[in-house]
Amino acid sequence: MHKEKAQRRLSRREFLKGAAAGAGALALVGVAGKKVQAHEVNVPTRWDFETDVAIVGSGGGMAAAIEALDAGAEVLVLEKMNKLGGETSMCAGVVYGAGTSVQRAAGIEDNPEEMVKYWMACAHGQAEAEVVKAIAYKSAETIEWLIGLGCEFPPEELYFSGVEREPEYAAIATPRPRGHHQKKEAGGPIFAGYILYRNLEKAARERGARILLETRALELVASEKNEVLGVKAESKGKGIFIRVKRGVILAAGGFSANPDMRKRYEWYGERFVGPFSFDSGDGIQMGQALGGDLINMNNSGAYGAGAAPVPAGEKSPISPAPRYPSIYVNKRGSRFANEDLSTYLMADLVRRQEDFMVFQVLDEDARKKVEPIPPATKSKLISAFTIRELAEKAGIDPARLEETIQRWNAHATEGKDPEFEKSGVTVGPIQEPPFYAYHLTAPPILSYSTFGGLRINAKAQVLDVKGKVIRRLYAIGGNTGGGFGRIYPGGGSAICRTLNLGRIAGENAASEKAMVR
Ligand SMILES: Cc1cc2nc3c(=O)[nH]c(=O)nc-3n(C[C@H](O)[C@H](O)[C@H](O)COP(=O)(O)OP(=O)(O)OC[C@H]3O[C@@H](n4cnc5c(N)ncnc54)[C@H](O)[C@@H]3O)c2cc1C
Repeated sequence: MHKEKAQRRLSRREFLKGAAAGAGALALVGVAGKKVQAHEVNVPTRWDFETDVAIVGSGGGMAAAIEALDAGAEVLVLEKMNKLGGETSMCAGVVYGAGTSVQRAAGIEDNPEEMVKYWMACAHGQAEAEVVKAIAYKSAETIEWLIGLGCEFPPEELYFSGVEREPEYAAIATPRPRGHHQKKEAGGPIFAGYILYRNLEKAARERGARILLETRALELVASEKNEVLGVKAESKGKGIFIRVKRGVILAAGGFSANPDMRKRYEWYGERFVGPFSFDSGDGIQMGQALGGDLINMNNSGAYGAGAAPVPAGEKSPISPAPRYPSIYVNKRGSRFANEDLSTYLMADLVRRQEDFMVFQVLDEDARKKVEPIPPATKSKLISAFTIRELAEKAGIDPARLEETIQRWNAHATEGKDPEFEKSGVTVGPIQEPPFYAYHLTAPPILSYSTFGGLRINAKAQVLDVKGKVIRRLYAIGGNTGGGFGRIYPGGGSAICRTLNLGRIAGENAASEKAMVR
């Protein structure tokens, strides 16, 4: 059936050769009773390509491509790199979902409403309920869809990937394990995102997706009514124009590699740089240029800021709290939390500390338990034979740190922590020199992604600053905000957001009435 559809589409596909369109025309339209001049944006005299739906970015954009193709639309995917997949192809392969067949196979009852409650609770008022709902209510179907494309999510690998069981959140939403792990290949890499992506790419190609590599979308083309007509791009050094009959989907990822945008919008500013140069915020800026509104721009995930070193090979380097005695202190030398909190809650507390300075303090006995120290963390480890010297070297208030350690040791020798009620193996005296201060908030960190972007509605349509839909313009994944807020809901949430919005955008863009110009 896919083949038949693809053939039908391929026979319909024709590229315009030299079709002329009015360039830069001016139009008179009435706004608030006054006549003003409205401009077409970037309309060329000649289009190079025509398609029903153009997708900017080939990561989660492939999910949009598959849906649009399945709805009978022609699809053209633009990818600025010489390789497909973006972050989606490099991720760990965890997908969040509620009410899935995988959960049922593991004997877990769940439903999307609980997921909505949980994500909204994590957002602390900063997410858009309609967007979260759209994602959550499609999440189980998307897991099935992925399985249909060849992905495998073993029920025994389901896990609580966020803070679902923390009392504050468990009181609001029934905690359920929703992290679905793509099965790893024997002898293959730990991060199984490439398997997810391989299946997406295969499905899109089989259905007839046309793909242009080394093609960077530069700007949108729009009519005088601000209706999107196409994309202006640079393909292998040559300027091209792509005309769309139905719509454009912005799927170009976040802005963690754009220093200017980070500085202007994002909380961590210039502290961290995202690992991927392609996360340059292009899609967001293209939407902004047509009046697209922004949301959650200061929101991001800096994983590894607030995560203590664990021995190489022991679980994920960002997930568990340290399994040895240590405390976290700020530059004043004071503790500020139970150090056993989950990574996502800890990251939120860490970023509120003065000058974003947080150190994990441990002694030689504890350090031996971290052997071998992962190479990336060695540069952040400061050592000294006294607590005072350690504090001076690290830039922590020495008198306060001595006091903090004395108070901690007085109780920890009895396995107690009256200050933050920590218990278990992480409680123990810090007394065996040399002492260590591990600078948790110093770069490099493990990963850093931005979560803000264009404001969209439940159909993944981009909204302008007045909340009005920008016609025929959709956005997904890192190009959007509104899915998350203060606390990242947990592993798998970003891919869940990307794939579900991708599918929604693909369906909706394909169902737009074809434009005749
Ligand atoms: C190491 C790591 C592991 C992760 N693991 C997980 C996980 O297991 N689960 C999870 O939920 N999340 C995970 N994430 C986050 C998740 O991978 C991303 O949030 C998600 O893949 C983003 O999808 P996207 O489609 O928005 O962007 P991407 O997948 O990055 O796709 C964007 C694409 O657009 C292209 N592009 C950019 N600008 C242009 C332009 N102007 N013209 C044309 N193309 C352009 C880029 O080159 C890129 O290919 C992980 C992130 C990292 C860094």
